[in-house]
Amino acid sequence: MVKSRLILVLGDQLSTGISSLRMADKERDVVIMAEVLAEATYVPHHPQKIALVLAAMRKFALSLREDGWTVAYSKLDDEANTGSIPGELVRHASEFGADEVIATIPGEWRLIAALNELPLVVRQLPDDRFVTSPIEFADWAEGRKELRMEWFYRQVRRKTGLLMEGDAPAGGKWNYDSQNRKPAPDDPRPPVSPEFQPDAIVAEVLELVEDRFAENFGELHPFVFATDRKQALVVLDHFISQALPRFGDYQDAMVSGEPWLWHAVISPYLNIGLLQPMEVCQRAEEAWRAGTAPLNAVEGFIRQIIGWREYVRGIYFLEGPEYTSRNALDHSRPLPAFFWGGETHMRCVREVVGQTRDHAYAHHIQRLMVTGNFALLAGLDPAAVHEWYLSVFVDAFEWVEAPNTIGMSQYADGGVVASKPYVSSGNYISKMSDYCTGCRYDVKAKTGAQACPFNLLYWHFIERNRDRFEHNPRMAVIYRNWDKRDAGQRKVVMDDAADWLGRLDAGETV
Ligand SMILES: Cc1cc2nc3c(=O)[nH]c(=O)nc-3n(C[C@H](O)[C@H](O)[C@H](O)COP(=O)(O)OP(=O)(O)OC[C@H]3O[C@@H](n4cnc5c(N)ncnc54)[C@H](O)[C@@H]3O)c2cc1C
Ligand code: SF4
Repeated sequence: MVKSRLILVLGDQLSTGISSLRMADKERDVVIMAEVLAEATYVPHHPQKIALVLAAMRKFALSLREDGWTVAYSKLDDEANTGSIPGELVRHASEFGADEVIATIPGEWRLIAALNELPLVVRQLPDDRFVTSPIEFADWAEGRKELRMEWFYRQVRRKTGLLMEGDAPAGGKWNYDSQNRKPAPDDPRPPVSPEFQPDAIVAEVLELVEDRFAENFGELHPFVFATDRKQALVVLDHFISQALPRFGDYQDAMVSGEPWLWHAVISPYLNIGLLQPMEVCQRAEEAWRAGTAPLNAVEGFIRQIIGWREYVRGIYFLEGPEYTSRNALDHSRPLPAFFWGGETHMRCVREVVGQTRDHAYAHHIQRLMVTGNFALLAGLDPAAVHEWYLSVFVDAFEWVEAPNTIGMSQYADGGVVASKPYVSSGNYISKMSDYCTGCRYDVKAKTGAQACPFNLLYWHFIERNRDRFEHNPRMAVIYRNWDKRDAGQRKVVMDDAADWLGRLDAGETV
C-alpha cells in the first residue's frame, strides 16, 4: 500500500493554489493544519492578529474538506496538541503511518530550520505566490554596489508587463511620486471601509483569544477583519472602486481618528494568502485603463506591491537568518513603556500607538515617520523595535516586517535597504498630519521645555552619527547647515536633547 504523506499548510499559506497542495494527492495524502502555542507566543502578538490567523485557518480547513481533502486540524486547546509545528508533524506522522512531509517553504528562517531538523523526509517547495523568487532577487543583486528598490521595481514591471506600453512605462515615467504625498484635506471624509460581523467560526475564535491572550497588548474588539477569500475580495473591490483614485494623493497623510484613510488595508490578506499580488495589481491597472483611477495612484499602488513587497522579501532571504540581530548604529535604549500604551505627552506617538492598540493597524508613514522615526532618533535597541513591530500589527510576518524595521526604519543593517536614515524633525509630522495641534509640545520650538522632542532628537542623532553620515552625499547638506549654526546654539540643542533622554531613561512621562 502506498503510504500517505503529510501536506503542511501554515497559517500564512491559506491559498488553494499553493505549491504544497499542488504537489499533493487528494486520495492518499493528509493535509496538516495546526494552531500551536509556539507560533501564538513567540512574540506577544496583538489579539486581533491571532484571531485573524486562527479564524482564517479554520475557514480554510473547512473549505479544503468541502473540496474533498482529508485534513487533520489541531485546535489550540486540543488535549493531544503538542504545541509546536514539528511536534504536530511527528505526532500525525505516526498516526497516519506517514514518513514524508511536503511543505511550501515558510516565510521565516526559524521555521525553515525547524522543518529541516525533523526526523522525517521533508520537501520544502518554493513559495511561488510571489511575483519574483529569492533566486531571481539574488541574481539581480549579484555584483551591485547598492540594492535600490527603484531599479528592482523597473525590472519587475518589465517582467510582469504591468503598466507597460511596449518597452516603455505607461505615461512615459516609471514613478509618479512627485504628484503624490499631499497632506490630507481639512475635511478628509475617506470612504467607509467594509467591516465583517463575526460568524460562528470567528465568534468561537474570539472567545478562545479572549480567554488565552487577554494579557497581550491590543484590543480584541471590535474585530472586523475579513477572514476568508470571499470577504477579502470585498475589501479589494471596495479599495479599487472607492479609495484607489485618491490613494496616491493622500498616501502619506496622517489624520487623528482616521486609521484607514485611502489605504487598501489588504496587507493582512496578501500575507496570509487570501489575496494574490498579481490579481490586486491587475485590478488596479484595469481601473486605470477604464479611466476610474489616475495613473499616479495606480502606479504608486502597484509599486508598493511588485516593488517594495517583493524587494523586502528578496532582502530577507538574501541577507540570511542573522539579519534580525543587526545593529549598525549600536543602539541599546530599551523600548519605553509608551510603546505598549503607557503615557506620553507626544501626541503623534500617542495617536499612532493608540490606533495600533485599537486596530492592529497603522499605515506606512505612521510606522516609518512616527514610531520608527522616534525609535531611531532616540537610539532604541533595534531588536526590541523589531519585536514590537512583529507583535503589534495584524499583517506582521518576519519576511516582510524585518527588512522594513531593521532595514528601512532603523538603519540597523547599515544601509542595505535605505540609502540614508529615515529621520525627520517635528516639521515633517506637522506638515503631514494634524497631530501637532493640541500636543503638549510646540513643534515650532527648537529648544527649551516646550520644544518638540523630534526637533531635539533629530539634531542629537545627526551629531552623534557624524562619522557615519557626514560624507553621505544625501546628508552632507544637513551637516553643512548644522555647522553654520552658532556653537552656543548647537550646545543648547544637544544639552536639551540629553536632558530629555535622561528623563525618558528615568521613566518620567515625556
Ligand atoms: C517599520 C515598518 C514595519 C512594517 N511592517 C510590515 C509588516 O509587518 N507587514 C507588512 O505587510 N507590511 C509592513 N510594513 C509596510 C507597510 O507599512 C504595510 O504594508 C502597509 O501599511 C499595509 O497597509 P495597507 O494594506 O493599507 O497598505 P497600502 O498603503 O494600501 O499599500 C498597498 C500594499 O502595498 C504593500 N506594501 C506597501 N509598502 C510596503 C512595504 N514597505 N513593504 C512591503 N509591502 C508593502 C502591502 O502589501 C500593502 O498592502 C512595514 C513598514 C514599516 C515602515
Ligand atoms: S509637536 Fe512634536 S511631539 Fe507633538 S505631535 Fe507634533 S511632532 Fe509629535
